[in-house]
Amino acid sequence: MIDRYDLVILGSGSTAFAAALRAADLRRTAVMTESRSVGGTCVNRGCLPSKNLIEAARIYWEAQHPRFPGLGGKTLDLDFRALIQGKDEVIHSYRAKKYESILADSDTITIVHGHAAFVDPHTVEVDGHTLRGEQVLVATGSRPATPDIPGLKDVPYLTSDLLTSDEPIELFDQPRSLIVVGGGYIGLELTQLFQRLGTQVTLLQRSARILSSHEPEVSIAVHDALTAEGIDIRTGAQLRRVRQDGSNVEVETRRGGREEVLRAERLLVATARVPNTDDIGVERAGLERDAHGVVTVDAELRTNVPHIWAAGDVIGTSTDSQMATPVGAHDGNIAAGNALGAERRRVDHSVLPRAIFTDPQVGVVGLTDAQANERGLACTCNTIPLSVVPRAGAIRDERGIIKVVLEQGSAKVLGVSMVGRDASEVIHEVAMGMRFGATSHDFIDMVHVYPTMAEAVKLGALSFYKDVSKVSCCAE
Ligand SMILES: Cc1cc2nc3c(=O)[nH]c(=O)nc-3n(C[C@H](O)[C@H](O)[C@H](O)COP(=O)(O)OP(=O)(O)OC[C@H]3O[C@@H](n4cnc5c(N)ncnc54)[C@H](O)[C@@H]3O)c2cc1C
Repeated sequence: MIDRYDLVILGSGSTAFAAALRAADLRRTAVMTESRSVGGTCVNRGCLPSKNLIEAARIYWEAQHPRFPGLGGKTLDLDFRALIQGKDEVIHSYRAKKYESILADSDTITIVHGHAAFVDPHTVEVDGHTLRGEQVLVATGSRPATPDIPGLKDVPYLTSDLLTSDEPIELFDQPRSLIVVGGGYIGLELTQLFQRLGTQVTLLQRSARILSSHEPEVSIAVHDALTAEGIDIRTGAQLRRVRQDGSNVEVETRRGGREEVLRAERLLVATARVPNTDDIGVERAGLERDAHGVVTVDAELRTNVPHIWAAGDVIGTSTDSQMATPVGAHDGNIAAGNALGAERRRVDHSVLPRAIFTDPQVGVVGLTDAQANERGLACTCNTIPLSVVPRAGAIRDERGIIKVVLEQGSAKVLGVSMVGRDASEVIHEVAMGMRFGATSHDFIDMVHVYPTMAEAVKLGALSFYKDVSKVSCCAE
């Protein structure tokens, strides 16, 4: 039997749900497909579980390291398994509220469980179930990549999937020591989380600096903050071989011309993510992918096959996109509207605020200095330490920097990168300004609440014209 829908969606993550809800708003039928847990990566093994444990680790660590005279350090009791169970409760509750309830309440959105693959450009088969779509959306997301390291397949290594629930790969036992491979945002968030809970973590990064696609000042500020907590960060490390040595994992690296051998109880590989497109029958649909398996799309999120659309992690950085939940959800909505003929919207990925939930956090929007130069934009940049921000001093946390990239002449803000307390919140002010073409003068002229971390933006803008270490209380 063939079930027919207006929109067949491969996947059931945030991208798929936004698309299905848009279809429902248009009173059209949509079916999602799912081979793992409903809701996809973000709720089940990504954003939510990581931020839950990061906050627990912060409380545990700060209790031992109070920043204020008069407060004595205290080691809280730690029950790792109970923390994991608490994390699973958050996953289950959020999944029920934000995903499963939508399915239960809708008479136009359906889900079919199992592995989906194209049979032909309009037809998808899910474990013997045949779905035919007038339009089709590929929203299969991404998964941890497996780097080509000799010996890796013989070692029971961890990936970011350790945060999952209801799957056997979930981690229930805290390792005493951990080697993390990969200094991108996922590797760093997990590194600090484990270190703060008492695991001794060594972080290996192949390139010369962590967060290598970010501003160098960001890499330095985060590197300094993490090493100050005792994390052993080794950059420029080429992995030669891994092997199991009794109850430990042994990792051989080459760094600066020297061989190093590291041992730890567990190994966590967080090097990159790959799109889930290798086993969905793209050839039977005639779908084109790039060399990394990314489905390429145009600005309307249409693939090379006119009735097949793609959005979310599966399009990688195509159309300057970012692999992040709100970007996928925003684009899923647009893709469904375009697919079902309600509109012809183009995506605009020029202003995508994003964050890394290390402590201090990283908040970024727009272009880095290097990206502006690559695009031939004449720009001027300034970086100031957050020690000039009164709130940072008041709360005794002056770690971090803010770097502002301005277009030369117009003083239009092209990009901002901030490392510091609440950077994930502060960056929204910049993003909103950039949506309306704000210049440095707009941020300087705006009255900011005193004392807040958002004053970093005003001070960053002001630093092009004044020595901000010499301004009075409210950056005037
Ligand atoms: C540890 C970690 C932390 C993160 N933290 C953040 C954060 O703080 N903020 C943020 O914005 N982003 C974060 N992300 C990224 C975010 O999770 C992803 O960008 C987002 O989930 C992508 O959504 P998606 O719908 O495109 O794909 P997914 O959520 O991956 O959904 C795709 C779904 O399709 C299913 N699927 C794949 N192939 C098939 C098939 N053939 N048949 C049936 N089903 C299939 C998959 O099982 C999956 O459930 C994090 C990711 C990780 C791993």
